[in-house]
Amino acid sequence: MAADRTNLPGTASSAGGGGKDIAVIGSSNMDLITYITRMPSEGETVEAPDFAMGFGGKGANQAVSASRLGSRVLMLTRVGNDLFAQSTIENYRRNGIDTDLVLPTQAASGVAPIFVDEESRNSILIVKGANALLTPEDVLRAEEDIASCRLIVLQLEIPLETVYEAVALGKRHSIPVLLNPAPAQPDLELEKVRDCQYIVPNESELSLLTGMPVDSLDDVRNAAAVLLEVGIANVIVTLGSRGALWMTRTEDRLIPGVAVEARDTTGAGDAFIGCFGHFLVSTGDTAASLEMANRYSADSVTKRGTQSSYASKEEFEQILR
Ligand code: ATP
Repeated sequence: MAADRTNLPGTASSAGGGGKDIAVIGSSNMDLITYITRMPSEGETVEAPDFAMGFGGKGANQAVSASRLGSRVLMLTRVGNDLFAQSTIENYRRNGIDTDLVLPTQAASGVAPIFVDEESRNSILIVKGANALLTPEDVLRAEEDIASCRLIVLQLEIPLETVYEAVALGKRHSIPVLLNPAPAQPDLELEKVRDCQYIVPNESELSLLTGMPVDSLDDVRNAAAVLLEVGIANVIVTLGSRGALWMTRTEDRLIPGVAVEARDTTGAGDAFIGCFGHFLVSTGDTAASLEMANRYSADSVTKRGTQSSYASKEEFEQILR
């Protein structure tokens, strides 16, 4: 079997019965985006030119991008008991995502105050809220539904124990698991995620995971090799405008980025993962899916906002022409 093929029978949206293509187990947040000319210093008040609210959370973003491209997505997440919860659920529905496992919680919804400057650099705060209350038991209760999916996608905005339980579930049911180790978590135990088929860090997450430098592409390769040593089959490092590096025990491939005029890179990593998951489930071809993910996420950085910058299937087909 070619190294870039996974055991993913059929094509996206062709699975029979009530099965879905992708189970995303992760966070829902409301993004509170302030466009700034500069950050205020301590004690200073600075006027900012613009503000917008948007749906976010790494889990939600990845679910929305995969669903917009045509994957059938199940979302396991917790929302709070405030103004943001109902609109979050409505947003999932609008995007065609199954909300049976969007669980209301006696807590505040997760929120993410985001600051974007004139050079498109972003700084992000995360208030976990209800996301911190998604438990391993929630995963176990949803086992049957998750087990009917063909790919599990995880990030680190929920408790690590919940992530580990989902990895174990994937292993039990022979479902490939893709872990996006973001935001970087020093406490992540690599041994407990070694059964993931894919790990997709950006450079700083890779450096934190391995304790190694990532100053050059060779540094990135050496650090990625550590994750392969742990037992993870595919390491994909996103490199911003330079694209992504894909490494397995037999592959070492740089998939170059697509040159665009970047306007707002917020959520580019999530666009990349949702798109990669969609095409991986559709085709089983890792390299081709990474090329698509580069193109999809490059398009997203040309637009403002997070989910609002993710193209639909039809828009993406236009871009590919
Ligand atoms: P973010 O935190 O902003 O969501 P990230 O740090 O998780 O992003 P990056 O490696 O910066 O992830 O970007 C993910 C992917 O998005 C890249 O692999 C690339 O395909 C695409 N991308 C990001 N920035 C650019 C850019 N300026 N031009 C073209 N493509 C880009």
